[in-house]
Amino acid sequence: MIKRSLRQIAAMISAENDSSSYSDLMVEGVTIDSRKIATGNLFVPIIGDRVDGHKYVEESIQRGAAAALWQKGVPNPPMHLPILIVEDCLAALQELARKYRQELPVKVVGITGSNGKTTTKDMTAGLLSIQYKVQKTEGNFNNHIGLPLTVLSLNEDTEIAVLEMGMSGRGEIEFLTKLARPDAVVITNIGESHLLDLGSREGIAEAKLEILQGLKEGGLAVLNGDEPLLMERIQQSKGNVQIQTFGRSETNDVYPLEITQMEQGNSFKINTSHASFELPVLGTHNILNALASMLIAHHFSIPFEKMNAGLASIKLTNMRMELVEGKLGEKIINDAYNASPTSMTAAVELVSNLQGYEQKILVLGDMLELGPQEEQYHLQIGEALNANKIDYVFTYGSLAGHIARGAAAVLGEKRVLAFTDKAELIHELERRVNKNTLVLVKASRGMKLEEIVTSLQKK
Ligand code: ATP
Ligand code: MG
Repeated sequence: MIKRSLRQIAAMISAENDSSSYSDLMVEGVTIDSRKIATGNLFVPIIGDRVDGHKYVEESIQRGAAAALWQKGVPNPPMHLPILIVEDCLAALQELARKYRQELPVKVVGITGSNGKTTTKDMTAGLLSIQYKVQKTEGNFNNHIGLPLTVLSLNEDTEIAVLEMGMSGRGEIEFLTKLARPDAVVITNIGESHLLDLGSREGIAEAKLEILQGLKEGGLAVLNGDEPLLMERIQQSKGNVQIQTFGRSETNDVYPLEITQMEQGNSFKINTSHASFELPVLGTHNILNALASMLIAHHFSIPFEKMNAGLASIKLTNMRMELVEGKLGEKIINDAYNASPTSMTAAVELVSNLQGYEQKILVLGDMLELGPQEEQYHLQIGEALNANKIDYVFTYGSLAGHIARGAAAVLGEKRVLAFTDKAELIHELERRVNKNTLVLVKASRGMKLEEIVTSLQKK
């Protein structure tokens, strides 16, 4: 993590004072959460909608923070303490990260896309760790606050940093990439998340391509080559960068062969190597995430043949296609972390193709923030189901009611149940599951469908 004197930090962020009696003080690490202060930290008070971090400045220093920032204009700055006055605390945090990144020799990999960023980030870091000292974004710290904090957590001897970059509107990825200055970037795919803010899939593609604006001269861009919106636009905006593509289609630089889906994951080969790979995560979309991370690892001189060990040890963060067991012995795929049409289609496809179950039940909730065509997107998920591969569909929420409408047209009314009350849904579901059942649980984060998984597990 960052380690600088208070004087150096004051200079890096152009603070209005240099807190001169304290300027030789050493600062180590930065936090915005006063509850997580570690000795020597710089505490940055952020003014949020609900709380103003300035309330905790004194307390943070009592609890071991070496120093804190203070935003000009906020009354009663405690000038007896080691504080640096700045125009804007958030902007100062970002500036500190930008300067620190410039001082580090580290190589940076930036990862964006509509779905699969965290997964691809974890896989990429896993593969690069075969040969390098690697740090990565913890969890989902991928925005204008999380990314600077991640950069400031980098150690001087880290060789490669893998950073997730998220967005909800135009200009955000541009900001993050110009701060992080990646040597290589990935765009996992273009989906429908944030359609509400960006208007169209074209708009989403353009927003993701902003990641190229911070890519170093001659750097590598790894793109999903199955996505025409990316491939059309990359021709116009590529400049001096290398491009490599991954995807299912054989037109890509790397594509998968001989995919076998198993209960605990996938095995596959690729067109550019004789090696076989085992990936202990479900869903063929995760093979695509793996291919993107393999191209990055290859760029950093790791041979494909050496990658199986890295892939085999990958573990995803909770609630992303997590296979758990219910109290009756039924298997549950907990994918309640989030949902968009792309990821829901991928999850349904997985369940449809998994062998060895007598009964398969989908529990699908609302996909939020999809904009004016939201009903249509839900309807299509239902209409696309295969009546021979899915036994029952339970929906939760008013938008998901349109999934039910689409599903009823394919599976018949009797096999489709729509709910707006979670307890009722759970009650009905428990009547139907048995030890040979596979249940998929998926919806947007806000629907909290993990409560259904917890109920199915509770003895
Ligand atoms: P967020 O925007 O919330 O940070 P993310 O892009 O980091 O999401 P992950 O957390 O990796 O994405 O995955 C979220 C969900 O998206 C997974 O549970 C899975 O269902 C789905 N998903 C992951 N990768 C893909 C992919 N390549 N294509 C389609 N769906 C995917
Ligand atoms: Mg994420």
